[in-house]
Amino acid sequence: MSQPTQAQIFAALSAQSSGSFKRSQPSTSTFESLGPDALNQLTTSDGIKGKKTNSRRLICPRDGCGSVILLEGVGELIEVEGEVLPHDPTSPFASPSSPSPQYYWLIPTGPFAFENIGFSRPDKSNLNPLPAFTPKDIPGEIAGKVKYLICAECDLGPLGWSFDGGKAGWLDVRRLRYGEGKS
Ligand SMILES: [Zn+2]
Repeated sequence: MSQPTQAQIFAALSAQSSGSFKRSQPSTSTFESLGPDALNQLTTSDGIKGKKTNSRRLICPRDGCGSVILLEGVGELIEVEGEVLPHDPTSPFASPSSPSPQYYWLIPTGPFAFENIGFSRPDKSNLNPLPAFTPKDIPGEIAGKVKYLICAECDLGPLGWSFDGGKAGWLDVRRLRYGEGKS
């Protein structure tokens, strides 16, 4: 068994820091990178009502941002019959996937449940831009104006939606990155 020499240690250190001293971001995963088992890997079941919450923290998907959006256990996984958020082809988000169902994190209790979140201004030109099947605070009621959820640090969005005057927020599982699972 041989210990590395001091010269080898210095060589290794300088190799690591070549270029920049930027601290490396903690390792995160995209939804797609977790493969077909992603939903299982990202949820913990309470075992009682079959409610599933996020087992990993939710992070802004923009490279180099890394703002923490939601801590573990705060978002509840829900299934929706289709794609809710509008898709802009110039956005970094994956194109809408094949038909339903789609999955979202429901945060029922308002902005303070988030670690960091930003809101777009309500869209006054189009009061009802989301599809009819979009979940709302109170099912069946006419929802208020849509306020999209965006990253509080870098404004990337929409990551999800909420309604003016409502408490709940919803985040698209495919528009986030996920912290490492506890092992
Ligand atoms: Zn961000």
